Amino acid sequence: MEIQVLKKIKQQGNRLTKPRKLISEIFTKVKYPLTAQEIQSLLKNENINIDLTSVYRTINLLVSAGLIDKIDWGDGRKRYEIVRSEKHHHHLVCDNCGTVENIVFKDEQWLIDRIKKKIKFQIKRHSLEFFGLCQKCH
Ligand SMILES: [Zn+2]
Ligand SMILES: [Zn+2]
Repeated sequence: MEIQVLKKIKQQGNRLTKPRKLISEIFTKVKYPLTAQEIQSLLKNENINIDLTSVYRTINLLVSAGLIDKIDWGDGRKRYEIVRSEKHHHHLVCDNCGTVENIVFKDEQWLIDRIKKKIKFQIKRHSLEFFGLCQKCH
């Protein structure tokens, strides 16, 4: 996956700068959606200092390249996650501790097909997030 992302950046005529490489690696490693600030502090943990403007610039490039997705949890913070087309999933977000779990539905294609037929809406993508309390918090 990591190599794929880096390859795609180059294929689209972009230079593989250090921030682009490092931030792509973080998105590949971390399994939950991240804010720009979180990305910056993860880099800081590895003694790498990249200013927030560069982080945002890199994120925007990755979003427009279709390599990462914007995730909106309605709390005013923008989060981003790598696009794993082979592992389409949804999130369970704990309101108390912030833990994020991924959940995969085996039969959601059935629902999508039904919506397509019933209301003739052309669905291209969707996101579905669940909020509540994780096992540790309830
Ligand atoms: Zn889905
Ligand atoms: Zn929790």
